[in-house]
Amino acid sequence: MAKLSSAEDRQEAESAVDSSKGNIIKIEDGHNWIILLEEDFEQGFIHWVLIGDKTTRRVCAGGLEGNGWAVDECDLCSLAKDQYDIKKQAKTDGDKGLVKEYNDKGNQLRANYCAIFKAIKLGTKLKQGKNKKTGKPMKRYVPDIESVQVGKLSLTHAQLKKVFKLIEVDEETGDYPFDFISNGEDLINRPLDFLKKKDDKKLYSELQTITPMKKTIEFEIVEEDIPDISEEFEFTDDLDKIVALYNGEAEAEDEGEYEEQELEVEHKKTEKTGKKTITAKNKTALSSKDAEILDDDEIPF
Ligand SMILES: [Zn+2]
Repeated sequence: MAKLSSAEDRQEAESAVDSSKGNIIKIEDGHNWIILLEEDFEQGFIHWVLIGDKTTRRVCAGGLEGNGWAVDECDLCSLAKDQYDIKKQAKTDGDKGLVKEYNDKGNQLRANYCAIFKAIKLGTKLKQGKNKKTGKPMKRYVPDIESVQVGKLSLTHAQLKKVFKLIEVDEETGDYPFDFISNGEDLINRPLDFLKKKDDKKLYSELQTITPMKKTIEFEIVEEDIPDISEEFEFTDDLDKIVALYNGEAEAEDEGEYEEQELEVEHKKTEKTGKKTITAKNKTALSSKDAEILDDDEIPF
């Protein structure tokens, strides 16, 4: 048993909480200093599925090509489509309650694009300085390198596009947004300030800007602290069971069984997702998909 009076116990308890945060890097409201460790990232589509009171993550079986709407290949996409059809019918029938219910259900279930990077999150601190022009004292947010979290950074498609913007040349002027960044490599080991806040017109806060720091910082990280992201988009073959649970075709006890299985389940490598690198070439390849890949707020329900 741990004792409050024991410094050793307190330290152990504190580090236990630190590690239980997992290695997921969260973009929180305000300034987030994040460093991308490499250009490679994994990408795919994810269904967030509510089973009982637990939300679980399932990779869309349609892969990247499925665009999050692979009704033929993916049981969960097919279920989302069924819900969309019910909503459409309810609309025709003028049943507003049912329209709303299935609108919400369909939106929750639809697969969302997601990109995962190996990254570091630094702390943020306020630094007192002077305005270069006026000489007046001013405060600014700077990275705190005393606080380092190594983990996986997950970005939505809209957020990833903001990263791409940093390496996008203005075709008329030939200038990049920042003169010290012209390609994906320039983004690596450089603290990037992800500013998340709520726009007056919006209900939720979202990523507004990404501002890179002029200098890069290289951290020496122990190998085992660097997350393995290679299996992020491997899919499991239990999607039909989830659909059965959703439709009430499976018994409640299946839920427990399902959770246990989740740990043992054999991963099947999806051939449809692969590594991408932030280079101008791949960026263009992904941009040309923009018309097809929908942003979170562009769900057609
Ligand atoms: Zn799917």
